[in-house]
Amino acid sequence: MSVQSVDTLVIGAGPTGLGAAKRLHQLNQGTWALIDSAPEAGGLASTDITDEGFLFDVGGHVIFSHYAYFDDVIHEALPKDGDWYEHQRVSYVRSKNVWVPYPYQNNISVLPVDDQVKAIEGMIDAAEVRVRAKDAPQNFDEWIMRMMGQGIADLFMRPYNFKVWAVPTTDMQCKWLGERVAAPSLKLVVSNTLNKKVAGNWGPNATFKFPAEGGTGGIWKAVAKTLPAEKLLFKKTVSKVDAAAHTVHLSDGGSIKYKHLITTMGLDYLIDNLDGAQEDIKTLQTAKPDLIYSSTHVIGIGIRGVLPPRIGDKCWLYFPEDDCPFYRATIFSNYSPNNCPQEGVKLPGLQYADPSKGKPDSEPQAGPYWSLMMEVSESHLKPVDMQTILEETIRGCVATELMKPDDVIVSTYHRKFTPGYPTPSLKRDEALAKILPVLADKYDIYSRGRFGSWKYEVGNQDHSFMLGVEAVDRALYGSPEMTLTSPDFVNGRRNTERRLQ
Ligand SMILES: Cc1cc2nc3c(=O)[nH]c(=O)nc-3n(C[C@H](O)[C@H](O)[C@H](O)COP(=O)(O)OP(=O)(O)OC[C@H]3O[C@@H](n4cnc5c(N)ncnc54)[C@H](O)[C@@H]3O)c2cc1C
Repeated sequence: MSVQSVDTLVIGAGPTGLGAAKRLHQLNQGTWALIDSAPEAGGLASTDITDEGFLFDVGGHVIFSHYAYFDDVIHEALPKDGDWYEHQRVSYVRSKNVWVPYPYQNNISVLPVDDQVKAIEGMIDAAEVRVRAKDAPQNFDEWIMRMMGQGIADLFMRPYNFKVWAVPTTDMQCKWLGERVAAPSLKLVVSNTLNKKVAGNWGPNATFKFPAEGGTGGIWKAVAKTLPAEKLLFKKTVSKVDAAAHTVHLSDGGSIKYKHLITTMGLDYLIDNLDGAQEDIKTLQTAKPDLIYSSTHVIGIGIRGVLPPRIGDKCWLYFPEDDCPFYRATIFSNYSPNNCPQEGVKLPGLQYADPSKGKPDSEPQAGPYWSLMMEVSESHLKPVDMQTILEETIRGCVATELMKPDDVIVSTYHRKFTPGYPTPSLKRDEALAKILPVLADKYDIYSRGRFGSWKYEVGNQDHSFMLGVEAVDRALYGSPEMTLTSPDFVNGRRNTERRLQ
């Protein structure tokens, strides 16, 4: 179907674009359409399936909603109890060859004594620094040193954050952490340590839900189905935005005119492919280099056997040390049994976790099966070898006891996502303050979403969806966009302003 002109055009059918589309559909004000280069909805919140039938998301996706409107929408899309599994958040940090319950600093009693001493000494120093400090910390590293001190910085925060962000903590700002993150209680840490106590990690009712079918991508395909199919146009790639003419050009030669444009493409891509007044393009191009990202490799492993009790209760795990390339592993088969093939499905063994054990029987055999999903970051400061990262990851799984050497692997998955994480770099906010107002105020272009507005702290699925919803309200009614402008505010409370009905 071809559309030549609409009042509001949405680019992208990830959570942000679907949020915009949902709001446009609900408000029923003027004409609209949504276009995406992909064949279906989901964006980075999609799910792949291997030839053997194992599902893998784009890394660990857990919903922690701050908005009643978002809850309404996903409930409408997947309304039945059987559509979801509910899980306790059980999360650990692998440190010094033991599992330290999250949050790390409250559970240092499980570490060797000399590390406990380093951690507590550092926290005492940090408390003194906080009392004396006259100004706010200038970067993430200073923030870590003031909040946690040298011991925990070196044991966990610095190495872990380099593995996640692929830039040093000195190159990152700390405003994105928000005012809500309090320093750990020194009293609690010391008493837990002396009493050899392990503190519960997320509080008594910390649960999350995960779709029974189709992984995280199943949510967004279901949300897309609640929208009029004729307004969702897939396999349409935007090659140019003529801002002055309010026209989007497509790679198939087509074009669409709009009054308001809500784009969720990468902001860097938009800037590189924008036509507008010369001085505006210059402003945008000058600010663009301060938008920094890392890539994310997602590596999935399907394993034959029963999920071992040593990791059976765990959801996701953090890895600060260099005995494995990944920063996080998710026990993905724990989220839904449908993330693996059924037990009766017969699959050949591909390899043992430790290949030096020889070759497993290649005759297809029945399950049961379980699965692991790992994330590895990449940047120019932290290169990753595409050819060897799968092998390194499997080796890391054995080194960290996620797998045993004689576990039989029946399926593997590796995909690189570029970009994966929008880096809260030192100059990010300055760059966004130059770019976003020019686009919105001069050209009616609302660039929003994980890479549309480049703010990690409001880059989860619920935030992204609401960035789209709020962009529509801004474009049509001039309403303020709380998620974009006040991340601390939206993250600190439950937003019940908008409802679906
Ligand atoms: C590793 C990782 C872990 C995450 N973990 C969590 C989590 O635990 N919890 C959580 O809630 N969220 C998580 N997220 C975030 C979640 O995936 C994002 O919130 C969400 O996908 C961002 O939505 P978006 O619509 O802004 O962007 P995207 O999902 O990137 O969607 C953008 C869409 O635009 C389309 N597009 C791009 N360029 C063009 C073009 N030129 N023409 C046409 N179409 C185009 C793309 O095809 C895509 O569909 C995670 C993300 C990653 C990468």
